[in-house]
Amino acid sequence: MPPPQSASSRYLAFLAEQSPPLSKAAEPEAEVDRGREQIEPDELAWQSRWFAGDFGHEFVTMDGEAVRIVDFGWWNHGAGPDFRGCTVTVNGEVRTGSIELDRDARDWEHHGHALNPAYRDTVLHLHLGQRGGGQWFTRTDEHRLVPQVRLDRQSPVRHFPEVPPPAARPGRCLEVFRRLGPERTLAVLEDAARHRLERKAARLRRIAAIHGEDQMLYQTLADALGYSRNRLPLTVLAQRLPLKFLKTRPGGGAEAEALLFGASGFLTGDDFDHADPETRRWLRGLWDCWWSYRDAFAPGLPRLPLRWSLTGTRPLNHPQRRIAALCVLVRNWPEVRRVLTGPGFSVKAVKAFAETLTHPYWDRHYTLHASPATKPMALLGSARLTEILANLCFPLAVAGNEKAWDEYRRLPAPADNEKSRRAAVRLFHGYPDPDRLTGKLWQQQALLQIYEDFCLEDHTGCRDCPMPEQLSAPPLEAAGQD
Ligand code: SF4
Repeated sequence: MPPPQSASSRYLAFLAEQSPPLSKAAEPEAEVDRGREQIEPDELAWQSRWFAGDFGHEFVTMDGEAVRIVDFGWWNHGAGPDFRGCTVTVNGEVRTGSIELDRDARDWEHHGHALNPAYRDTVLHLHLGQRGGGQWFTRTDEHRLVPQVRLDRQSPVRHFPEVPPPAARPGRCLEVFRRLGPERTLAVLEDAARHRLERKAARLRRIAAIHGEDQMLYQTLADALGYSRNRLPLTVLAQRLPLKFLKTRPGGGAEAEALLFGASGFLTGDDFDHADPETRRWLRGLWDCWWSYRDAFAPGLPRLPLRWSLTGTRPLNHPQRRIAALCVLVRNWPEVRRVLTGPGFSVKAVKAFAETLTHPYWDRHYTLHASPATKPMALLGSARLTEILANLCFPLAVAGNEKAWDEYRRLPAPADNEKSRRAAVRLFHGYPDPDRLTGKLWQQQALLQIYEDFCLEDHTGCRDCPMPEQLSAPPLEAAGQD
């Protein structure tokens, strides 16, 4: 008799008949069924995904050589290639140097890298293809050929939120879900939610294998703090300023704070000149540290700038406050690590710890320009905590731990998740007692997974989506497959 399937593997079996398979799920730049909208992440997003290991670490060059990334190096702040201090093997031969990532292979020539000695030690040129066909060769100013790797845009991990919110219209599976009834519908949702947690955990483990566990935690916290409009700039900020680097600054937390604010682009002389006395005092402390790093770490050329989204952002969620929260987490790192991932992890302990986190300036300021608030404001509010629990704590805690899964199941759904609300319209519009299917965090996560696995794969307005037929099929157990 075959071994019993886990919930997640049942969901995978459920997906297996889908074409293309799950591992080739729609990529951000694929056309999606929402007004045929074209979504293209910018170069910074590709670089961030590469550095997080989303493309893997084994490749084949355009000339058929086997490449393995031994060390992803560090994000370059100055002139020259994107990543410095990298180690790769090419057909087993160890090479150390830099890696450059361009969207188009021809950018190497167009940007003048072929004549620039700063690019001389490049050991690998990554790109996402080239327009116009043919093959461009990558050469240094000394006419050394640099191996090229074309990254697969259909990489298996979709991470940054380029995925658009679903169109809020009832789908073809809606009737089938109604016929199934709440018990079987909840079972499908549970499988999808467990599968989502496993995928998140796998990604966290991959980042930890490349950059270490602390950096994985710190980077994921930055990502959660950036949710939803500033995930990319906050993640890149944490990638460019690794935790290990911040923790070893001689000035400690104050220096780390100056670096994070300075490299984010939020420390400008103009802000200082127009600030009120309290803000000036706080900024002066930052500038005392920042001036010595400024030349090396100031954002902008030659590195791609961080673009912060302020449109439609509530004052409480201003990216300056999110960076302040990241600074406070860095200052309290041993405790952060213990509470979020230690053996005593619990939602109650995480919430209690969050309440202890304070900042002398940001407890009462929305932005550098705003007047002080009359009451202190939490640096990590409930929405941020939910994001951290859903994307970091529970993916790590749930693996093989049913007690953690039970705790995860109890978490209420955040009220403001527009994406899952729209996905619910597609699957459960008009369902009696919809709260039973969508009122918990795990249910919202399940909806997002189904949306990504099925709705984003479908370009026929539901017509060819296999979900309704698979739902109508007898359960695997009944078919004698379990
Ligand atoms: S694409 Fe498939 S899963 Fe999505 S709403 Fe339509 S039938 Fe349902």
